[in-house]
Parts: sequence; C-alpha cells; structure tokens
Amino acid sequence: MEKAVGGKTIELVLGDIVRQEVDAIVNAANPTLLGGGGVDGAIHRAGGPAIIEECQTLRNVRGECPIGEAVFTSAGRLPARYVIHAVGPVWQGGENREAELLASCYRNALRIAAKLGLRTVAFPSISTGIYGYPTSEAATVALVTVASFLTSEPQAPDRVRFVLYDTLTFATYAGALDAL
Ligand code: ADP
Repeated sequence: MEKAVGGKTIELVLGDIVRQEVDAIVNAANPTLLGGGGVDGAIHRAGGPAIIEECQTLRNVRGECPIGEAVFTSAGRLPARYVIHAVGPVWQGGENREAELLASCYRNALRIAAKLGLRTVAFPSISTGIYGYPTSEAATVALVTVASFLTSEPQAPDRVRFVLYDTLTFATYAGALDAL
C-alpha cells in the first residue's frame, strides 16, 4: 500500500527490514548504540560486525545517542548502503514528551538521509516493541512526521517505506495512512 505526499511516496510493506534494498534502513536503536533485541539485534546479526564496530567508535567519540536523535553508519553485509540508528522513547504513559521525542527521532533520521542525498529510506515501527509505545498512536506520529518532512524539505528522500513485521502492526499503520 502507498500514498503520494507532496510529489513523494510513503509506502507500507509487511516484511523484514534487513532484506530491504534501499539507500538506508533505520534501526530502532537504544542510547548505548551497542545493540539490543528486536530489530536492533536482527540488523546486527544480518549486517555482521562492521556496524557494531562503527557504533562503538561513534559512542567513544560522542557518547550516548540521546533519545529523539540519530546517527548513521555503513550497512556491513546488508543490501542497504547505510544504517541510520535512531533512538525512540520508552513509553511511560504518554505524559513524558513521548510523542514529541518519537517525532523528533523520525525527523532526525530523515535529516541525515537528506544530508546524505538518499532517495529511499526504510523505517521499522520505532518504539512499539520492547519500548512499549502503543502502536496506533505511534503510527500516527510516525506517518504525520514523515509526511510533513516530505512535503516541506526539497532534499527529502523520494520514497519512505515502513517495513512492518507483523500483520497487526501493518493493519494499524494502514489505517493511520488512510486517515492521513
Ligand atoms: P523498540 O525498542 O524501539 O520498541 P523493537 O525492535 O523492540 O524496538 O520493536 C520495534 C518494532 O520492530 C516492533 O514492531 C517489532 O515487531 C519490529 N521488528 C522486529 N524485528 C524486525 C525486523 N527484522 N524487521 C522489521 N521490524 C522488526
């Protein structure tokens, strides 16, 4: 399923982000940048040790990656060219700036993509796994933030793909994209 926004495209697919042949995939990272479970673990398993080595260097030089921010590395053995590591918020009930921090995490990942001149970027559903963000609220934040970036930034990628890992998450994003 896809939707045109400002001459660009938002696309939803059911699948595994490590298999995407795009300019960059986005990792739902944690502030340590040293790997974790969920999509983060899958990316490091499939991409090999080069990615974690670059993450370690970034961490030694710049320290932890704050919630809402993002950094990038190469993509090791993955078919993508880059991995953009974006740190989403842990859900704490919704009163701790979660929506603002989640939006900022998507925006900062897209800023990196724009700066690198990338045309296609794939995102997972950031924060809705181990971090516990309710999927329907996260889907709205994710899609509104991406659509607004695509319509306002001339250097934005042409195509943003959300790669959803299970049918319930896919259906939730599909409903939110319809409502956009
Ligand atoms: P967070 O810690 O930000 O919540 P998780 O990795 O735990 O991140 O989960 C984020 C979403 O990514 C969840 O919907 C999870 O099911 C999904 N996910 C897990 N593995 C993959 C994968 N290989 N490709 C795409 N999405 C995945």
